[in-house]
Amino acid sequence: MYIKAVVLDKFKSFGRKTKIPFYEDFTVVTGPNGSGKSNIIDAVLFALGLARTRGIRAEKLTDLIYNPGHEDGSDSGGPREAIVEVILDNSDETLSRSQVVNAAGSEDVGDVDEIRIRRRVKETEDNYYSYYYLNDRAVNLSDIQDLLAQAGVTPEGYNVVMQGDVTEIINMTPHARREIIDEIAGVAEFDAKKADAFEE
Ligand code: ATP
Ligand code: MG
Repeated sequence: MYIKAVVLDKFKSFGRKTKIPFYEDFTVVTGPNGSGKSNIIDAVLFALGLARTRGIRAEKLTDLIYNPGHEDGSDSGGPREAIVEVILDNSDETLSRSQVVNAAGSEDVGDVDEIRIRRRVKETEDNYYSYYYLNDRAVNLSDIQDLLAQAGVTPEGYNVVMQGDVTEIINMTPHARREIIDEIAGVAEFDAKKADAFEE
């Protein structure tokens, strides 16, 4: 399974609906400083529910909504809604149809060769709301997180290596570093289960 495309609509600097394709093996995004490269990664973390606002470089969720006056801090009073859709290529059946149906709570998920996870954040006068969709079916964040966990994608995992993470790993104690390797190798999960079993 891999990310086939990300569609951003009024997310951060993406004022217009923009579809960014990704290759299966390796994709590099280049561009001048401040052109929105990191915002694309933020969009992926946002849509997949993989990070809290700090991880996506925003103080509050509504800062993620495109604001034409972002640079000078002026309030546009414009549309206050951001949408990101992450399109996963699941043609290798990393996730089975029944796993997707289960997460969506509906048989009506279309062809699961493609898994589309969409998040929308909408600001009202005194509040904001998040909505999640799985192949166009409305779901909860936990449904998305449970589904992704079955494909080995978790918020605690190292599917995403953020700026500063590498330096942090270098500066770690050997023991802490070993824990990360165990986590990546999937050994940590069994260690935790073993510890639980001993307690019982
Ligand atoms: P660098 O090469 O310096 O890492 P980058 O390409 O990664 O740059 P980003 O951090 O992705 O750049 O984008 C920063 C830009 O996004 C800034 O110009 C900032 O003003 C803009 N931006 C952030 N949030 C919003 C928003 N809510 N509305 C409009 N623009 C925004
Ligand atoms: Mg950047």
